[in-house]
Amino acid sequence: MTHRIAVIPGDGIGGEVVPAAIEVLEALDLGFEFVDGEAGDYVKEERGEALPQETYDLAAEADATLFGAAGETAADVILPLREAVDSFANVRPARAYPGVDAVKPATDLVFVRENTEGVYAGIEDDLTDDVTTLTRLITESASRRIAEFGFEYAEANGFSDVTVAHKANVMRKTDGRFLEACEAVAGEGDYEYDEALMDALAMHLIMHPEDYGVVICPNLAGDMLSDLAAGLVGGLGLLPSANIGPDNALFEPVHGSAPDIAGEGIANPAAMILSAAMMLDHMGYGGEATQVRDAVTAVLEDGPRTPDLGGDASTADVTEAVLDAL
Ligand code: ATP
Ligand code: MG
Repeated sequence: MTHRIAVIPGDGIGGEVVPAAIEVLEALDLGFEFVDGEAGDYVKEERGEALPQETYDLAAEADATLFGAAGETAADVILPLREAVDSFANVRPARAYPGVDAVKPATDLVFVRENTEGVYAGIEDDLTDDVTTLTRLITESASRRIAEFGFEYAEANGFSDVTVAHKANVMRKTDGRFLEACEAVAGEGDYEYDEALMDALAMHLIMHPEDYGVVICPNLAGDMLSDLAAGLVGGLGLLPSANIGPDNALFEPVHGSAPDIAGEGIANPAAMILSAAMMLDHMGYGGEATQVRDAVTAVLEDGPRTPDLGGDASTADVTEAVLDAL
């Protein structure tokens, strides 16, 4: 069966790193059909809207989407696109690579963040001149779904530790429910299961990131803790991410359009290529995903480097080296 992949480079370095990832995917010869879609600042200038309906539909109907970045229009583009794929899980690996400066070189963990509710449900009210409230929405169904996804992810990717971040000592009902859902799913696999208070976890992650594998988080905790861990491995140019829906998904680097270096041909393509590897994993091409990650790892260790990693190589040089390593 041919897989249809929506390809949406967007603005700035998106237009430089997405083609690099496509080159790598094409080298694997898996018979993917790539369909281009337009979105971002340049589209808004030309047509008055940053995300045309046809691009939204393309992502909604594709088997998977590769997205680069959007500049000023980021919120108008990426939020609807994540909704187009009905994304309930945000997956963000933070891994240190040999040869790349990292605060904690032993870091190799993955955040699985609930992506639909919690304090992001948008339930805020001004009650009086003095009082404003925020409702934190936690459902059994969404908690169960993220827990199942997280534990399956740990199993499929060989992680031996699964930790659930929570604050159920304070948010007894909401995080109590979240924890219960995780506990109901835990214990069926080949991993050690742990629960951690999110504040203490923040400290422990900085001191001993090597103690953790998959970390399942409610929405806001996942947002903050995954950024914290990103700081441990250093280098925005290295961090991939996935937005997973029930039968569709979108893969994008954590970095944005990097207008300061756009057009110079020196963007680090690693985060985008690693995002493509996550797509391969998700689509059942685990062997190929590992090949791509190994190739990127080898190049990071002793291949050409872009300026963000202290080298003077171009995007094309690094992509070429990854293709050679493949
Ligand atoms: P945006 O508004 O699109 O997020 P930004 O100005 O926040 O743009 P980011 O893309 O978030 O820029 O990048 C922040 C910094 O990291 C910039 O200096 C950028 O050049 C650098 N950077 C980000 N991604 C890469 C990459 N792939 N290769 C090299 N440098 C990068
Ligand atoms: Mg940014």
